[in-house]
Order: sequence, then C-alpha cells, then structure tokens
Amino acid sequence: KMVLAQLGGSISRALQQMSNATIIDEKVLNDCLNDITRALLQSDVQFKLVRDMQTNIKNIVNLDDLAAGHNKRRIIQQAVFNELCKILDPGKPSFTPKKAKTSVVMFVGLQGSGKTTTCTKYAYYHQKKGWKPALVCADTFRAGAFDQLKQNATKAKIPFYGSYMESDPVKIAVEGVDRFKKENCDLIIVDTSGRHKQEAALFEEMRQVSEATKPDLVIFVMDSSIGQAAFDQAQAFKQSVAVGAVIITKMDGHAKGGGALSAVAATKSPVIFIGTGEHMDEFEVFDVKPFVSRLLG
Ligand code: GDP
Repeated sequence: KMVLAQLGGSISRALQQMSNATIIDEKVLNDCLNDITRALLQSDVQFKLVRDMQTNIKNIVNLDDLAAGHNKRRIIQQAVFNELCKILDPGKPSFTPKKAKTSVVMFVGLQGSGKTTTCTKYAYYHQKKGWKPALVCADTFRAGAFDQLKQNATKAKIPFYGSYMESDPVKIAVEGVDRFKKENCDLIIVDTSGRHKQEAALFEEMRQVSEATKPDLVIFVMDSSIGQAAFDQAQAFKQSVAVGAVIITKMDGHAKGGGALSAVAATKSPVIFIGTGEHMDEFEVFDVKPFVSRLLG
C-alpha cells in the first residue's frame, strides 16, 4: 500500500543479491550500490543525495580494510540502513508542543498538497489524546477554503475560526489565535493559503502571517507525488518561513514518494507525520528507524 514499497523492494533485492555472492569483492559491492542508486533515482530522490549516499557507503565499507573475519554482508547492510536513515533524519528533533501549554502551529504548503485535511488530522490526533486543539482558517484566497475547514472541524468537534467577509489573512489569523488563547486552547492550528504555485505573493503572505502570529512551529505539508520538484519547492518554502517540520501526504497513493526524502534534506526538518488516506484518522506518527526497517522488509 505504501508508495515507497517498491523502492524498499528494489533495495532489499540489491542487498539480497550481494548477500548471495560467494565472495564479496569490489564488483559485487559496486553492482549492489548501483542497483540501490538506480532505485533511489527512479523514486525521485534528489541526485545529489543519492550520490552522497553512495560515496558514504563506499567510505564506510572499505573492502580492503575489512579483515577476513569480518562479516562484510552485515556491515554493508548496516551501512545502507544507516545512510537511508540519515537522509530522513536531519539530526535535530522539531519543536514539540506540550499539552496544557499554548502552542501556535502554522501550516504551509501548495494548494492541493492536502494542507487543510492535514490540519484537521493533526488537531484530531491531539484531541484524542486529551488536548484542546482549535483551527484557524487564514486562507482567504481560495473560495471554499473556510467552508472546507469548517466542515472538517465540525465533524471532529474541534473549535474553529474564520470569516466569509474578511479578506486580510493576517487579521483573521491574529483574531483567531487571540480568541483561542483566551479560551485556553493548548494547540492553535493556523491553516494558510496555498494558491497554486510558488508565487512571490504567497510567500509574502506566509511571512506576514508568521510574523503576526509568531508560531512555535511551522509545518510544511507536501504531497508525496511531487517527484523531483520536491527539493526546490521545499527549499523555497524554507527560505520564506522558518519551517520546522514536514508532513508528507498521500503516502497511500501510487506516487514514487522519493521526493519526500528530498524535502527533508531541503528543509533540514524531520518528517513528523504521514498522511495515508482521506479520512481523519488516516494519519501516522513518523519514526525514521522503524520506517526504514519496514521499507527494507
Ligand atoms: P489543500 O489545498 O492543500 O488544503 O488540500 P486539501 O486538504 O483540500 O486536499 C486536497 C485533496 O487531497 C483532497 O481531496 C483530500 O481529501 C486529499 N488528501 C489529503 N491528504 C490525503 C492523504 O493522505 N491521502 C489521500 N489519498 N488523499 C489525501
């Protein structure tokens, strides 16, 4: 079901082939690494990341230095596992909101990425754990954005704020955040406009909303099917607002998904959740090591 399953399968096969060889020499290792490289590129992982990974593995697995007694297979497998984890792990955790302490979390992403759906999923996830979340619709650009958020929020019984009349997203964002602070909500989620491409106006608007609401965390929402454009897109967002975490959506689809790996590298921010369907509870906490383990089967 997972989009990355195919990638995982290809990498596992490459490792298996290497393992089946009677002697692991330079050629066997190179064949294995080339197969892995091809699989990653075909899944739309950024070229530079793949090249770095290959270099790193070769540096770690110096066949000449490995004494006869060493288990080369295990060392190579471990190196591949570690390198995949490294791509997905920027090395520092994101800000984590604390229950019963007010946090403002702002969501950014392109239109259609699944941002509004993900805001509700994030709120619902915390509500089930006893938090008091609230949703603010600061998307005044897309007709119907407020209705969509309102519908989602109502279904999940989560308080929401927005306006059909007001056209200034900064004003709505500030009003919403202020209101929910007064109501002692501990997780105030601000949904922003996505528009349809990386326009300067979108980034300027995001910057203003961020400056006015001072979010504790900015979450970048990205569609897993974005492909090779992922790195540049994620970087463009990171340059406008202080992206601190990533949520990848539509991991249940047929996209190749490797772009997700590139997004982590571009924003230097961890993936904290993944979306696995259209429903409210199709949302999973993301942990690097179990994910890579599962990926490699
Ligand atoms: P926004 O424009 O970024 O706010 O995107 P929406 O939240 O409106 O989502 C766009 C479409 O993607 C909707 O049809 C959602 O139901 C769908 N969607 C969002 N997340 C997921 C997901 O994880 N899996 C699937 N299959 N669909 C999703």
